[in-house]
Amino acid sequence: MKKTPLYLATLFAVLGLQTVSAQINLGEKALGAVQKGVTGLTFSDADAANLSREAVAKMDKENPVADDKDPYTIRLKRVFGKHASEKGLTLNFKVYKLKEVNAFATADGSVRVFAGLMDIMDDNELLAVIGHEIGHVANHDSRDAIKTAYQKEALTDAAASQSASAAKVTDSQLGKIGSALVDSQYSQKQESDADMYSYDFMKRNGYDVNAVESAFTILAKLSEGQQSSFIERMMSSHPDPKKRAANAKARAEKDGLYKPYVKQTAKPAAKKTTTTKKKKKK
Ligand SMILES: [Zn+2]
Repeated sequence: MKKTPLYLATLFAVLGLQTVSAQINLGEKALGAVQKGVTGLTFSDADAANLSREAVAKMDKENPVADDKDPYTIRLKRVFGKHASEKGLTLNFKVYKLKEVNAFATADGSVRVFAGLMDIMDDNELLAVIGHEIGHVANHDSRDAIKTAYQKEALTDAAASQSASAAKVTDSQLGKIGSALVDSQYSQKQESDADMYSYDFMKRNGYDVNAVESAFTILAKLSEGQQSSFIERMMSSHPDPKKRAANAKARAEKDGLYKPYVKQTAKPAAKKTTTTKKKKKK
């Protein structure tokens, strides 16, 4: 072991250790101890919620948030208004008017949906996808994600890493933590658990559970073409993206609820409530 691996060199540099004396063989256990010294800080659920709230507030400032009168906001409120409180979680929903197909939910209960996702999903499919994201919050995946992101940033900041509890992060660290949250990579188990949550969410609330299969079929098709971090995130831990759609179908069949999903026509409520056709174009 003559050459210090890069990650070790970086860790040493961060900790101010001498990489020159690399012949001292740090075994796995010793390395674990060193890392524990840095990352063994207490990071409570409240810390996760507070830090998430701060990171989302920063993202809200830096992204085009749809206002209350925006058709995207009106639609999101219509679909999710009754789900502001879900299994003890207090959720808040906002639309980012960005073309990217994306959505995320954070430990404080913030749910952010990109316009690009809303454009390709009908209401039920949107419920299925957002239900999946809410699942990550309910299952504490979001809390673990921000803890990991925080620890990663704390590692690059000696002052924060020496604090016994979650220390105040800088604005640039908060930005990095926010990006990490948007791109959170979850394990296959976390993904399938969130899929299960989504299916149960649909069933419990009396929605058409077949929209889960349909939503994943849409995302699977997209993953074959254009790339986006969301699609990657939704699909990366699954070698066969179509399998998730198939799993949802199998669940529906088992429950005797399966029928081929009929996609709703785009924004049916908007059509019904529009009294004059010219009113839309201004
Ligand atoms: Zn997921």
